[in-house]
Amino acid sequence: MAREVEKKAVFDTDSAKEVVKELRASFVAGKTKSYEWRVAQLKALLKMTEENEPQIAAALRDDLSKPELESYIYEIAMLKSSCRLALKEMKRWIMPERAKTSLTTFPSSAEIVSEPLGVVLVISAWNYPFLLSLDPVVGAIAAGNAVVLKPSEIAPATASLLAKLVANYLDSSCIKVVEGAVSETSALLEQKWDKIFYTGNGRVARIVMAAAAKHLTPVVLELGGKSPVIVDSGINLQVATRRIIAGKWGCNNGQACISPDYIITTKDYAPKLVRLHAYVNICNLFPFNHFSQVLSILQLDSFKRELEQFYGKNPLESKDLSRIVNSNHFARLSKLLDEDKVSGKIVHGGERDKNNLKIAPTILLDVPLDSLIMNEEIFGPLLPIIMVDKVEDSFDVINSSGTKPLAAYLFTNKEKLKEKFVATVSAGGLVVNDTTVHLAEHTLPFGGVGDSGMGAYHGKFSFDAFSHKKAVLYRGFACDAFVRYPPYTRRKLRLLQALLGGSLLSIIRALLGWS
Ligand code: NAD
Repeated sequence: MAREVEKKAVFDTDSAKEVVKELRASFVAGKTKSYEWRVAQLKALLKMTEENEPQIAAALRDDLSKPELESYIYEIAMLKSSCRLALKEMKRWIMPERAKTSLTTFPSSAEIVSEPLGVVLVISAWNYPFLLSLDPVVGAIAAGNAVVLKPSEIAPATASLLAKLVANYLDSSCIKVVEGAVSETSALLEQKWDKIFYTGNGRVARIVMAAAAKHLTPVVLELGGKSPVIVDSGINLQVATRRIIAGKWGCNNGQACISPDYIITTKDYAPKLVRLHAYVNICNLFPFNHFSQVLSILQLDSFKRELEQFYGKNPLESKDLSRIVNSNHFARLSKLLDEDKVSGKIVHGGERDKNNLKIAPTILLDVPLDSLIMNEEIFGPLLPIIMVDKVEDSFDVINSSGTKPLAAYLFTNKEKLKEKFVATVSAGGLVVNDTTVHLAEHTLPFGGVGDSGMGAYHGKFSFDAFSHKKAVLYRGFACDAFVRYPPYTRRKLRLLQALLGGSLLSIIRALLGWS
């Protein structure tokens, strides 16, 4: 069961002010800027994670019944990998980047210097409460900032573990965790930050952005949306099905920002994807076990078959599926399922256990576009399938929604369709023939566009998200161009015109004063 949010000591505007004051003093003193401090903190973060893996997994189990394997891959291992990458690459990231110069400033040289922004605020969400809290912190530390982390109160076990561990392992004069909910976050948001990095829903993102605007604070907003999966015919359906399942139910039971939200396929292909109940009913007509088995082996490539293999005949009892985070979200998802125009569309699953906050993997076929489920981010184990006449029509379905998803997926073997997908669909990230795995590539920026967010992180993009790119131009005292100084004459103008856009001959003519 979801734990109630624990009562903490009051954290108000004055407390927030104090925290920022202390961190700003450390930043101004230059503590966070040294390479050695950054290395020491990243090593401490890595050590903290390595030494507390069982406690982290236990907190995630407490908050979400998150399976240990998912906690390990998507939270613990990913955080460790981020720390290791930053430790390996940081020296290179910090190095000023040489920039070319032009005739305008000749002779000169230039570089782009990455400098820390100052004191930054990270506000994270509950679904991957360990990774989403600390992954941005890795970038903030690598870039030399002081940082306050505000984890989500909806995952209280992880939030309090984070508060305890960070205080024990990291430099608390520069890195702090503030636990709390709306009032504590509001107190923090009143302060002047040098960057706010927020992960969560779009409604709160607007509150964050409005608070940031008061101080002209830049923001990174890591939001969500309805991430579609287009399924074309003529593919390896078993592999496609497994990869969709892994991205949907294998990611926190669908409570992941880049989980497939809905599928679009053709009317012809949809029955193959799910093997409609007519087929299953035939199985049920024959009570002899061996006959049913033969028939079910024939269902090799369907969702039904794969889901049953992964989660058993009673998925509500499966230890490999997270529960719904709390009763509010359970009620929200139930409302989506119970809507009249949708309830008859369930072709697989639909079972619920209110007491244990469990919902089985559920597939709905031919869901109307004006239903509730198609008009909000599902963020749970329900997967509607939309049917179109031609697979190319899928792009119109996605684009006509008016919002840009955080991720979009396409399963196909056709090169032309892949090209059209990349050219037509605007989303935070795209994956062809898999789901969610782009998240693991640190060479790719991870972030949204439009309603799914702004800014990006992961790998060097995390370092960049928390750095100011300072332009530095170096000049000597030679070649002091007289043309830039008054009195402005026609000859100077002609020379400038020649220098900035003319040929070598026109430059010589202007220099010699020939008209
Ligand atoms: P949440 O409820 O944990 O809220 C996120 C944070 O906002 C929390 O720290 C919370 O304390 C704070 N908050 C809530 N209400 C607030 C208020 N009124 N004022 C100030 N702060 C407030 O998480 P959520 O929003 O339910 O998270 C789910 C959403 O986040 C989904 O839309 C999902 O797609 C998105 N998400 C995006 C990413 C990503 O990386 N892009 C990752 C995870 C989740």
